[in-house]
Amino acid sequence: MGTTRESKLVSRRELLQTTAVIAGSTAFGRFFPAALGARAAALPWPPYPQQGGAPADPVAAMRAQMGAAPMETHKLADNLTMFGGPGGNVVALNGTDGKFIVDTFVKPVWPKLKAALDGLGNAPLKLVIDTHWHFDHTDNNEAFHEAGAAILAHENTKTRLTESHDLLGMHFGPSPAAALPTETFKAMKKLQANGENMTLAHLAPAHTDTDIYVHYQKANVLHCGDVFFNGMYPFIDAGTGGRINGMIAAATSLLAMVDSSTKCVPGHGPLGDKAALAKYRDMMSTVRDRVQKQKSAGKKLEEVVAAKPTADLDAVWGKGLIPGDVFVTIVYNTL
Ligand SMILES: [Zn+2]
Repeated sequence: MGTTRESKLVSRRELLQTTAVIAGSTAFGRFFPAALGARAAALPWPPYPQQGGAPADPVAAMRAQMGAAPMETHKLADNLTMFGGPGGNVVALNGTDGKFIVDTFVKPVWPKLKAALDGLGNAPLKLVIDTHWHFDHTDNNEAFHEAGAAILAHENTKTRLTESHDLLGMHFGPSPAAALPTETFKAMKKLQANGENMTLAHLAPAHTDTDIYVHYQKANVLHCGDVFFNGMYPFIDAGTGGRINGMIAAATSLLAMVDSSTKCVPGHGPLGDKAALAKYRDMMSTVRDRVQKQKSAGKKLEEVVAAKPTADLDAVWGKGLIPGDVFVTIVYNTL
């Protein structure tokens, strides 16, 4: 069920090519002078460097690096809190019905996250919701489960977590049973808790084929997962169904759900709003159009990258984790 027809259209060769471009990018010299430098630790999704001697366990290195980022707390509403920083943005809905959590950070952050959630009050951990299968969003599923929470996700997330994947130089084996979603859904799920109405719904393949959003209607908050990288080029995981046109379509459907006062929680980056989400969508459309034009004209990937179609955008969007040449490569390979 998890593998989409579209994902098979992205060949293994293209994926390897993407990884090679990412690994060879000049950004790595900038971002990884020392494995755990402060600047690198602050990056929301640093692709793993493959040059100059890889550590024995790239996943552990990435966990340590992402987990070293400081955790920030933002109150979104009386009973709704966002924790940002160490590998994504976690949102906690708290009240007498229990604590309902979206996303989990990476493993090393568990003690800090657990302490922060305990600080919200004595209600038990009821449910953790995964926005998609990636480890920086699901890494503490097992810890939440052991702490008494059920785990809810799209059915493709469960499928992906039972498979092996290679992602940005990291290898992930099948997750242990205790880390798998205990409950899944296909299209949409509605939850009522703590005076809030939540709508969870699947988005057609965008960042992966497992993406959902979580909409808190009363608080007017939308957790967008990794469909939204606020203020930077996004990573798109072509290996599990991600594609640029899906990203644009997903951002467009999220835009239709929000108003000017909606708080838009991105998968990575600072808390956003409708204007930030619109700017991000428009940037993706611009890059897609430019790359599509050259690809349709028969240009090879190397030629398109060399033409620097994002030159005027990189100063704003390329400062995060995915530099312009890498984003162009991802866009080209998923068109
Ligand atoms: Zn992701």
